[in-house]
Amino acid sequence: MNPPAGQKIDYLRLSVTDRCNFRCVYCMPPEGVEFKSHEQILAYEDMVFFVKTAVELGITKVRITGGEPLARKGLTDLVRQIRAIPEIRDVSLTTNGVMLPRNAAALKEAGLNRVNISVDSLDPDRYRMLTRGGSLKFGLAGVEAALEHGFHPVKINVVMMPELINELPAFVQITKDRPIHVRFIEWMPVGSCGPRTVGESLSKDRLMAELEKIGLEGPGELKPVASPGGWGPARYYRYPGYEGTIGFIGSMSDHFCNECNRLRLTADGKLKNCLFSSHEVDARPAMQARDREAVLAAVSESLGCKTFDKNVLPGRTARNMSQVGG
Ligand code: SAM
Ligand code: SF4
Repeated sequence: MNPPAGQKIDYLRLSVTDRCNFRCVYCMPPEGVEFKSHEQILAYEDMVFFVKTAVELGITKVRITGGEPLARKGLTDLVRQIRAIPEIRDVSLTTNGVMLPRNAAALKEAGLNRVNISVDSLDPDRYRMLTRGGSLKFGLAGVEAALEHGFHPVKINVVMMPELINELPAFVQITKDRPIHVRFIEWMPVGSCGPRTVGESLSKDRLMAELEKIGLEGPGELKPVASPGGWGPARYYRYPGYEGTIGFIGSMSDHFCNECNRLRLTADGKLKNCLFSSHEVDARPAMQARDREAVLAAVSESLGCKTFDKNVLPGRTARNMSQVGG
């Protein structure tokens, strides 16, 4: 199915690596995943050629992701080259943040506009458990570095898992005095990860009810607000007088397929039109041959199979999120 009339595909999620310094429980199996070899991964030059070609189809925004994108050397140069493409008006990064303190200044200077940082818990022990070994101190240092270097907005991604309920007051508190935008994302069944029992999934409605209770106990009524400096599927709210916001991405309970404006390119050069789909188009040969027409044909083939219909979501995919680029 082609895009519904008026629906533009203008957002590319570009995965630069399938490697990561973490193995988050909701993203990777305990044993990790087999990483692609250096030869299987796209060169930055291939990615830049791809973006330069994709702008002809209307891509204007690029989010760099992974795996952990900052684990790949030379990322700043990639940002600079993508930012130099006149049609690209926004380049953002999704990261676990631990390598951000040492990279933030260079990324800012290279033209990176925004960062989303994954911090799934504000409790050091739970954070270590969820990331399988990570240190909350370093994740939060990434958030500080993003704020200090003037990235705007700074969003924190939190995957909704049941124990999160106990942490809501702490997440609410960090939105009080600083422009931090916390986004709760429903846990999705991607690859071998995802909730397997009803007890493991937490819906946005359940979380919202808890946040409304917190509001009544103190900060006041949570009111809907516009997306802070962005667009996309999250719905945002704010407590009265708070600087930051709270967003929800109802990826499971509130599919946004008919609003989807995304195309994904995996680190090994496969085009994916939907996180939930196993359909892939290999665009790597076309990129490596610097064949513009063939790249455009690959994008058209991929988008031609995009369903734009929440009722026809295919089943579990072969790749885990770190191998797609969430
Ligand atoms: N390593 C970076 C990070 O963690 O932010 C970027 C890659 S990570 C795959 C991108 C986003 O996908 C993160 O915000 C992570 O929380 C989210 N994610 C991973 N697996 C998920 C799942 N099964 N359901 C929902 N979100 C998931
Ligand atoms: Fe790595 Fe990000 Fe996946 Fe965690 S969510 S394992 S940090 S890619």
